[in-house]
Amino acid sequence: MSSPRQTVVLDGLALSQQIRGELAEEVRKLVEAGRRPPCLAVVLVGDDPASASYIKGKRRACKRIGMDSLERTLPATASEAEVLAVVEDLNRDDAVDGILVQLPLPDGVRATAVAEAVAPDKDVDGLNPISSGRLLQNVPGLYPCTPLGIIEVLDRHDITIEGARAVVVGRSEIVGKPIALLLMHRHATVTICHSRTRDLPSVCQEADILIAATGRPRMVKADWVKPGAAVIDVGVSEVDGELVGDVDFEAVLGVASLLTPSRRGIGPMTITMLLRNTLQAYRDRTGA
Ligand code: NDP
Repeated sequence: MSSPRQTVVLDGLALSQQIRGELAEEVRKLVEAGRRPPCLAVVLVGDDPASASYIKGKRRACKRIGMDSLERTLPATASEAEVLAVVEDLNRDDAVDGILVQLPLPDGVRATAVAEAVAPDKDVDGLNPISSGRLLQNVPGLYPCTPLGIIEVLDRHDITIEGARAVVVGRSEIVGKPIALLLMHRHATVTICHSRTRDLPSVCQEADILIAATGRPRMVKADWVKPGAAVIDVGVSEVDGELVGDVDFEAVLGVASLLTPSRRGIGPMTITMLLRNTLQAYRDRTGA
């Protein structure tokens, strides 16, 4: 049996603050040069308290780094056509650089239709099919924020991606597929797993980089993890009022070289990458 190792536990809040400081500096220089700050538009449909709180957090994050934001709210009874009309309006507004429509959407409003409606050059969530195509083809574009945050975490902890065996558990449009592509473009050898994968533990055991994005609480056990692997836990589930990830955190401590917690882990990094995408969209649109 291998002896326990020191596991570095990501402080996603501290890393986010560091990156947000870098972004704030970039925004400060733009404004100092006489330009307007970048602007993120957020769209909230319905009155789900969790969605309202996420929107508030994203707007606060914008403000803290000197970016503008604006909010459009629609009632839960809004039709898809009404939501699309708001998106079209924001697409046309030259003062808006990024558009984010908060998910989930009420029944009858298709998330795919809304994602398709967002102008690709303002698609800071990276969910428009044009953005997905750019990611697939490995050409510059706006990519989904959580996968970008994962790559940033790996890079800032000096985890070698090139040549590594990476296993991604989960194949959603928002996390699993895009992180698999980003890792492949960085020359990892990537395996994508899902609910029909046979013998998942033994596939995971091969991973130098293991990404868990299923929403299945504590599914990834210590003996699924290769000693020294970097383990990124994206999952967030509520169990008995407590937030838990997809990884059996306590058990994997001492096995992984790097481990991300469900609190102060990948979550803050996702918002940080939303800010970075908004700045990128602004630069691409304005040539700044
Ligand atoms: P989805 O529900 O869209 O996808 C879940 C994926 O996990 C599916 O591909 C599914 O497989 C797979 N899966 C489910 N059960 C198993 C299983 N037993 N074994 C193997 N694979 C399984 O989820 P998301 O990708 O949107 O989110 C995943 C988790 O990450 C959630 O907990 C979510 O809350 C969290 N999340 C956190 C973010 C953050 O910023 N921290 C951002 C985004 C998500 P199949 O395709 O076969 O159904």
